[in-house]
Amino acid sequence: MSPNALELRDVSKSFGSVEAVRDLSLQVAEGEILALVGPSGCGKTTLLRLIAGFETPDSGTITLGKKTVADGSTELPPEARGVGMVFQDYALFPHLTVAGNVGFGLDRVPAKARTETVAEKLALVGLQGYAERMPNELSGGERQRVALARALAPQPVIILLDEPFSNLDADRRITMREEVRGILKSVAATAILVTHDQEEALYFGDRLAVLKAGSLQQVDTPEGVFHKPLNVSVADFMGQTELVTGEVTPVGIHTEIGMVPQKIDLPPGTQVQLAVRADDVDIEPRSGAVAVIRERQFKGALNLYKVALPSGQILHSLQPHTLILPSGTAVEVKLEPGHPLACFHNGNAITAESAS
Ligand code: ATP
Repeated sequence: MSPNALELRDVSKSFGSVEAVRDLSLQVAEGEILALVGPSGCGKTTLLRLIAGFETPDSGTITLGKKTVADGSTELPPEARGVGMVFQDYALFPHLTVAGNVGFGLDRVPAKARTETVAEKLALVGLQGYAERMPNELSGGERQRVALARALAPQPVIILLDEPFSNLDADRRITMREEVRGILKSVAATAILVTHDQEEALYFGDRLAVLKAGSLQQVDTPEGVFHKPLNVSVADFMGQTELVTGEVTPVGIHTEIGMVPQKIDLPPGTQVQLAVRADDVDIEPRSGAVAVIRERQFKGALNLYKVALPSGQILHSLQPHTLILPSGTAVEVKLEPGHPLACFHNGNAITAESAS
């Protein structure tokens, strides 16, 4: 196991009556990328600002590398913490060249070493030959690469990226996230990415930390968070999940769309909820079937169907683009997950195993 680059212990921060970060403990290992996700207002930016030193915790300890940077008695200023920041709006200095921006944090480095570092970081982000350009002569993606080079130049303990791809259009966003992740990994940088985009978090993070109302809900691998959400809020936030109510029976969970052969360690008759995603649901047109297609969204390679069950519950089903069914078609709905579905009782996950 790599040592920790960052450790937060029982950190809290309130603004008046708003508890923006609540009793939060978290470690990020050296070389690890953590994606911090959660709905708007859940405390993501406040957490980054606490780590960077722009906010002071009300209580708790923050350690960066081997240094305690905040613990009630100590409070190191941002410039003494060894933190690099990359922001959504790039925050480049408009009056400085690209080289001036990248070298900005190296004011104590001798001129020759500074020039070398700037050239090395520009090469790392693929911007050789851009040193003398001004920020207004760059595209959004190029500006973000300059911001990344600037953040990496002083060799920080950790890089904090706050929604760095939000200002880019959809295509550019996907290529930029691949490029930035590749650059961070090539230099084994430790990083925290803040995003409200689940897909981006699943791609970018070695682990994900899911935050809700200032509290950490789950810290796990992308697969762990996606397939085994610890509670209903995580399942809900990770997107395209419908909660289907079922009843525990000796042979599985009985739902409106049939028996799900998962054995649950709860007494028969207990009401539970299953997290069902669009890729778990299969549909087949059949006259007389009680579920009805409400809508088809063309997604290119796939069609996403919205299906209404007799109870009024809506499910989504992902189908190949070759299956075209008009609204109003009666369909049989089958759960074909190929894996145990996440199952919740009173909002919290319970262990579910496939019946043999
Ligand atoms: P978003 O995704 O919308 O950027 P976020 O998860 O980054 O949201 P924060 O900006 O950390 O959320 O805010 C957390 C809570 O703290 C919110 O309720 C916000 O209104 C409040 N808050 C943040 N900064 C301040 C401040 N300086 N003064 C008062 N309240 C604040």
